[in-house]
Amino acid sequence: MLWSYLKYLVIYGILSWLAFTAEVYIIFEPIVIRESYYIIPFVLAGVSALIPTILEHRLKLLQEEYDRLLKQRESFPGKQKIRLSTEKRDKLTGALNKEAFNEIVGVKIMEAKHLDQPLSMILFDIDFFKKINDTYGHIVGDKVLKEVADVVRENIRKSEYFVRWGGEEFIILLPGTGLEGARMVAEKLRRVIEHHRFPDVERVTCSFGVTQLLRDDTISSFLERADEALYQSKREGRNRVSVIL
Ligand code: GH3
Ligand code: MG
Ligand code: MG
Repeated sequence: MLWSYLKYLVIYGILSWLAFTAEVYIIFEPIVIRESYYIIPFVLAGVSALIPTILEHRLKLLQEEYDRLLKQRESFPGKQKIRLSTEKRDKLTGALNKEAFNEIVGVKIMEAKHLDQPLSMILFDIDFFKKINDTYGHIVGDKVLKEVADVVRENIRKSEYFVRWGGEEFIILLPGTGLEGARMVAEKLRRVIEHHRFPDVERVTCSFGVTQLLRDDTISSFLERADEALYQSKREGRNRVSVIL
């Protein structure tokens, strides 16, 4: 940066000295110019040389950032094909199981970071499910689980991953979707489930937690934030969507 500044200082110094001398001898009488005025071209050159120096420095930084992104893309091995065999699915709901999730999420996090694309997660849990089991029995409970899963599948994209995370807790992984998009998906699912007519049970609702992958996230920090958001929805009265970033 110093060399760049000196280079422009010399060029601007010569130019402003020439301009100043020309002005003094062509426009003004030499007699009216005091000696101290000769400092003016140097001050002008000193200040104006700062502008191209800063611009050149900014350009260099941009070039470095561009090269870094290019290298990052070139080192990306390409999108991996994820094989989702039947043993990676939960038998009752047909959703992917935890084992499948652990495989997929690692790949999707790597892809999102390499390609600078968003990745979001929705974690949701059926409200007061224990009460449904206690009131109507375990078999009806199972039917509700299956039906909730069917409703969700009908309302998400093929490119999104639907996982049974635990008993009555599910995850949707949304590659290429940002926080606001994921919140809208969760809100739509919340509404659809709330208004869905389940044959044996009067009303079923779910609570949702939504988050988006951050640059420094690991699988567990990503999951922890979604869990925190879900917990917030439960705490604030259930049948709602909470977002944490
Ligand atoms: P909250 O709104 O706080 O989530 O309350 P909850 O009653 O839904 O949560 P809790 O964790 O107390 O109960 C979950 C229940 O889900 C308890 C468990 O027996 C039941 N469950 C888990 N897996 C299955 C399943 O595969 N089938 C059936 N029928 N019930 C299940
Ligand atoms: Mg529950
Ligand atoms: Mg639960």
